[in-house]
Amino acid sequence: EAETRRCLVEERVRAFPDFPVPGVLFRDITPLLKDPIAFGAAIDLLEAHLKTSYPQIDCIAGLDARGFLFGPVLAQRLGIGFVLIRKKGKLPGLTESVSYALEYGQAELEIQSDAVEPGQKVVLLDDLLATGGTMSAACELMKKLKAEVLECLVLIELKSLKGAEKLKPFSIYSLLQYD
Ligand code: AMP
Repeated sequence: EAETRRCLVEERVRAFPDFPVPGVLFRDITPLLKDPIAFGAAIDLLEAHLKTSYPQIDCIAGLDARGFLFGPVLAQRLGIGFVLIRKKGKLPGLTESVSYALEYGQAELEIQSDAVEPGQKVVLLDDLLATGGTMSAACELMKKLKAEVLECLVLIELKSLKGAEKLKPFSIYSLLQYD
């Protein structure tokens, strides 16, 4: 049952105050990866959600780095491909990039130009949505490649940071929500 699975997942996410900087409560998903039952429950829930909501998905695009931990497993379940959205400077060949503001300074995300075809339907995946800055940049990359973003998918959403509003008109789905 879905609620039982959700509890298994929740029990394997721990919180560290003041990491990596004072004032941030870091949500750590490493216990989830270490527990095959809980990890399986998380993938089951994400798979069931995508299968009911989006019968036609061309690929999953994972965000550097923790999106890479869940994306390929989920894509395999759905029988579709997985593509990488990386921090700048890691991908060879022709790329598109988008820079975005961090709390202090700038960051840049990059994708290979041939990662997705124009018109393809893509689900973006990361471990966590905070301010939504990272996920918004990923949506921009999809726009540059003329792909269609079906949904932004995360395990954890930090509601009080209002990332969902920043992402509009794209929709966000999360397994766990915290304030
Ligand atoms: P944001 O761009 O503010 O939505 O931040 C999202 C990115 O930063 C994701 O890739 C997360 O992995 C990471 N992140 C931000 N805040 C946290 C947090 N409190 N705990 C764990 N990861 C975080």
